[in-house]
Amino acid sequence: MHEEPGEHHAPGRALVIGSGVVGLSCAWSLQERGASVCVVDRDRPGAGASWQNAGLVSPTMSVPLPEPSILRYGVRAVLSPRSPVALVRAVDLRLLRFMATMVRSCTTDAWRKGMEAYRVLNEMALDAYAHQKAGGVEIDLSRGDVVACFAHAHESAGFLREMGSVVAAGQAVELALLTGSDVRAREPHLSGNVEMAVEVRGQQYLTPSHYVHALAQSVRERGGEILEGTPITAVERRHRVLVARGPHGELDADAVVVATGAWASDLLADHGVRVPVYGGRGYSFTVASPKPFASPLYFLAPRVAVTPQGDRVRFAGIMEFGSPDAAPRRSRFADMASAVRPFLLDVDWSTMADQWMGPRPLAADGVPLVGATATPGLYVAGGHGMWGVTLGPLTGSLLARQIMTGETPRELLALDPLR
Ligand SMILES: Cc1cc2nc3c(=O)[nH]c(=O)nc-3n(C[C@H](O)[C@H](O)[C@H](O)COP(=O)(O)OP(=O)(O)OC[C@H]3O[C@@H](n4cnc5c(N)ncnc54)[C@H](O)[C@@H]3O)c2cc1C
Repeated sequence: MHEEPGEHHAPGRALVIGSGVVGLSCAWSLQERGASVCVVDRDRPGAGASWQNAGLVSPTMSVPLPEPSILRYGVRAVLSPRSPVALVRAVDLRLLRFMATMVRSCTTDAWRKGMEAYRVLNEMALDAYAHQKAGGVEIDLSRGDVVACFAHAHESAGFLREMGSVVAAGQAVELALLTGSDVRAREPHLSGNVEMAVEVRGQQYLTPSHYVHALAQSVRERGGEILEGTPITAVERRHRVLVARGPHGELDADAVVVATGAWASDLLADHGVRVPVYGGRGYSFTVASPKPFASPLYFLAPRVAVTPQGDRVRFAGIMEFGSPDAAPRRSRFADMASAVRPFLLDVDWSTMADQWMGPRPLAADGVPLVGATATPGLYVAGGHGMWGVTLGPLTGSLLARQIMTGETPRELLALDPLR
């Protein structure tokens, strides 16, 4: 594929590396624009962060992670072994490089700049879901305002301040303040230990593993191939094609998208992408819930999200900065359960199951990396951190437009992977 300046040939064959919600959404949208697509995964669809996360599709709460209070809170928290935020302790140069960039990004100015990028995306996030649904992806999306719960009213100050900054950035936010008795009338599972709550209106949620299945099925039905157990170790441009190499051989394509979540930096270092991406390891489990929860809850102090999932309910939380491949810490499940137990009634903790750890792909400066790399034909879609489910379908749609038309959508300018 030789291009003169200003000339763009839409790639006929695209290869997507990584089959989480972001990679599969890219594949789906590339198909929609006429490309034939192959998706490869070192494991299977959803093997990374996409499988058992909290499943909130929450454009209001989707904001950059690095901000000044992270430094204050983070240092205190990392010193406490049961804290919801921790470093996986190991001599890990990549973690140090990641933390150095993240600490530099914990300024009010950097947060505001990042928030401007998120605001533009958040406004379009639900439409992108509606588009996938209309295109045949069977998504079990439910409407559900997220109820942020606090043991003491004064603990809500930080959250309300953050929502104030989101409003100041120009994003529409609809909140309702609820007293303890208001919120218990709305959600009988809450105990008298919740003094007040903030309802974040207009959000949605899904069962993430079902969504991964539905997307993979739709990609296959449209003629796409998904190769499981196919790790890629390097991508290079040879003459006019891109070649992805791995222990099982080579695959070539006119365009390649790296969507390998928390592992993205492994493949991108040789292609001009300098912002490190690393793991923000989170944990989840489910318990049976014979009486369904009315809507998702979020306990801010222990940072645990509670999402209804059919006849069960999922608890998700913890942020461990560390290698996506390190073993899960088993004690984390009990830590999470004991942090929220005093606030909940009628939950049978003995039915705990589906224990899971997944690495949030954190871009060190808090802004996703979506767009072209320095190697022509090689693109990246990732680094969505805490909000890849919310922003996955939109990411796929915008990046497919860029790949197939050669024009960068204005919504992607701030997400330039070469920044
Ligand atoms: C506890 C928790 C709760 C969360 N809650 C929410 C939420 O409520 N809402 C929300 O929007 N987001 C949430 N997230 C974040 C969300 O899960 C992620 O942002 C999203 O899943 C990232 O998707 P991805 O496709 O970029 O990466 P992943 O899902 O991690 O997919 C990457 C894929 O690449 C594959 N891979 C890696 N390296 C290679 C290689 N070299 N060759 C081939 N394949 C490779 C992996 O096997 C994996 O399948 C949560 C995350 C966690 C951990």
